[in-house]
Amino acid sequence: MRKISIFGATGSIGQSTIDLIRRAPDAYDVVALTGGGNIAQLARDAIALRADVAVTAYPDQLDALRAALTGHDIEAAAGPSALIEAAQRPADWVMSAIVGAAGLAPGLEALKQGATLALANKESLVCAGSLLLETARRHNARILPVDSEHSAVFQGLVGEDMAAVERIVITASGGAFRDWPLADLKTATVAQASSHPNWDMGQRITIDSASMFNKALEVIETREFFDVRPEQIEVVVHPESIVHALVGFNDGALMAHLGAPDMRHAIGYALHWPDRRDLPVERLDLAKLAQLTFRAPDPARYPALQLAYDVMARGGLMGAVFNAAKERALDHFIAGRIGFLDMATLVAQVLAQVDERAGEHGIDDAMTLDTVTRMDHLARGEVDNAILKQTG
Ligand code: NAD
Ligand code: MG
Repeated sequence: MRKISIFGATGSIGQSTIDLIRRAPDAYDVVALTGGGNIAQLARDAIALRADVAVTAYPDQLDALRAALTGHDIEAAAGPSALIEAAQRPADWVMSAIVGAAGLAPGLEALKQGATLALANKESLVCAGSLLLETARRHNARILPVDSEHSAVFQGLVGEDMAAVERIVITASGGAFRDWPLADLKTATVAQASSHPNWDMGQRITIDSASMFNKALEVIETREFFDVRPEQIEVVVHPESIVHALVGFNDGALMAHLGAPDMRHAIGYALHWPDRRDLPVERLDLAKLAQLTFRAPDPARYPALQLAYDVMARGGLMGAVFNAAKERALDHFIAGRIGFLDMATLVAQVLAQVDERAGEHGIDDAMTLDTVTRMDHLARGEVDNAILKQTG
């Protein structure tokens, strides 16, 4: 039996992972499941999967979790240190599906145990790519992509020589507002931004799809995962979300990965890698689809995309700044304090000012969990300050 843990088990990716696990209960020995405030779901899954431990990220939910697990031989724990402790428990395969930079520390810890880390949490690669990759190398651990585009690229590279790769093209659905008049974006609401045309995902990544911050993170994720130069990475808008990514080779060939928009494909590929197994995903009927369309992303509609290239050009801890500023701006948008387009403006502003501020705080360039965390906090504070200034 393979020992597995799922971080962010109660979320969209976590639940899709559990769906696959439950289809073959005898194959897996579940070590840890973690979640946030959805205690009923966390307890229900921990009981059904007979996990050793269930962890909520929130200390004030510990009593509720204990109560929900009464009569079952499952440990309950809470808080960031409990997440670390859970990641230190030996496991063969660990799903990293916490949303945001909070996924970084448990992911690093799982790699230190030599586990295979299935990485849905793209934020940790954006914040601390070289730290994560170096940690994996040092501990003989492996990181497998779960983001659909990166899983598609990974599959497209099987048996290929990276030296023959000319470019990587990742597709973007264009999100909720791809066909809206530009002038209306300013007043777009949280509810409008929270509905995705093709994918059923957590609220934060859905809004990030509408703003293309999600694709911006994925461009950086592509660079980290596949070690290609920024100018080799292209984004194309593909409203149908059927082609997930393409790999272009030096002989002009372009290999595309197609599939129904269902994350269980990418999760299942990472779960069974290097094998392929039968997965419960829809089989495409190409004749019924009839056509697939592509267009260039409009920079005026999606200013976040260019920011990713600026961040890659600067390197170092700029990914941590970019992600944290984006997360904080998103918090403020969700709370109704700023408009939809203000998110990219704020993030650009923080990126422009951060070098000076980091110097004042004595944060050096070396990438460690400490410097990444300090930069993350600094960038969030900068977003808050900018909003305070604007609103007086
Ligand atoms: P979600 O919001 O549905 O779930 C997030 C999970 O993280 C939940 O279990 C939640 O309880 C937990 N969580 C939230 N804040 C936390 C914190 N501070 N500490 C610990 N745990 C916390 O999100 P999701 O859509 O499942 O996305 C998860 C990750 O996967 C994200 O990094 C996202 O970018 C990535 N991803 C998601 C999809 C998708 O289809 N949903 C696709 C590709 C990549
Ligand atoms: Mg994706």
